[in-house]
Amino acid sequence: MSSESVKVVVRCRPMNDKEKSCKMVVLVETSRCQCFIKKPGAKEEPPKQFTFDGAYFIAQTTEQMYNEIAYPLVEGATEGYNGTIFAYGQTGSGKSFTMQGVSEPAAQRGVIPRAFEHIFESIQCAENTKFLVRASYLEIYNEEIRDLLGNDAKQKMELKEHPERGVYVRDLSLHTVHSVAECERIMKQGWGNRSVGYTLMNKDSSRSHSIFTIHLEICNTDAAGEDHLRAGKLNLVDLAGSERQSKTGATGERLREATKINLSLSALGNVISALVDGRSKHIPYRDSKLTRLLQDSLGGNTRTLMVACLSPADSNYEESLSTLRYANRAK
Ligand code: ADP
Repeated sequence: MSSESVKVVVRCRPMNDKEKSCKMVVLVETSRCQCFIKKPGAKEEPPKQFTFDGAYFIAQTTEQMYNEIAYPLVEGATEGYNGTIFAYGQTGSGKSFTMQGVSEPAAQRGVIPRAFEHIFESIQCAENTKFLVRASYLEIYNEEIRDLLGNDAKQKMELKEHPERGVYVRDLSLHTVHSVAECERIMKQGWGNRSVGYTLMNKDSSRSHSIFTIHLEICNTDAAGEDHLRAGKLNLVDLAGSERQSKTGATGERLREATKINLSLSALGNVISALVDGRSKHIPYRDSKLTRLLQDSLGGNTRTLMVACLSPADSNYEESLSTLRYANRAK
């Protein structure tokens, strides 16, 4: 696998109301794909500098990021290649803003509805080709999988392995989608199920990974009238908040959960860096449910994009630096 198939970008959101009294410690130079972070109070110390495949600052839009970096990955899915887009970062850094987005302004619509729109446009332009577009939406919480679009969002689902089908979630519901509006409805429904479950259980949804998958079946009829079938899959992943839980003073159940989140995020980091490195014979997919489930969409003939989301405020310096280091290791 060449490192061309893994891309990493950073996206720094604007300051929010809670950060009114904060100083800005992050600076982005989009034209050079660079991000700088300055340690608060360390006047003498030069800012730390990171270079990625793309760098987006406070005023830039999801539309721009999508067109510049996500587009080819989604295009690949319409040609039968698997792909995965991850949003990584601490809670409140802009992961859902990036993946689901907002309807106004239109330029800030999320990656998920944009990917659907893109796919439907490709379908309309394709000749002699039939498509079946389906969506699934699940979450992994505490190493347990739940279907966000199934009949019972609390039921634990099993991860299975099949010699031909690979790794899959047994009984996961798949929903045929015909339009962007339908996609948005499904996205909201699943997202709602996620938080409802957690309020009931008194748990925090920022601690789960959610995976929205667009499954494509493509049937191409050639000049001789023969059909050729291909399948592509696009995983759009909103990862659990990456904040280190040791600082939050979590104990007992909470600490166990936190340890699992940290483990699965580091398992993902290990898989991606092993893929990027290209020399490792062993890719440690089996170390977490997240990496096992995404095994057929990470590495090999697939494309991966990691969007590392940041807050610009000095109060989040440590977390932002750790996000930049994580992202840096993935490229
Ligand atoms: P996360 O999913 O990482 O917990 P959110 O996506 O919910 O974080 O973002 C936290 C808040 O910041 C939300 O109110 C969101 O609207 C806002 N926000 C995030 N990114 C941006 C951005 N690039 N531009 C404007 N507002 C943003």
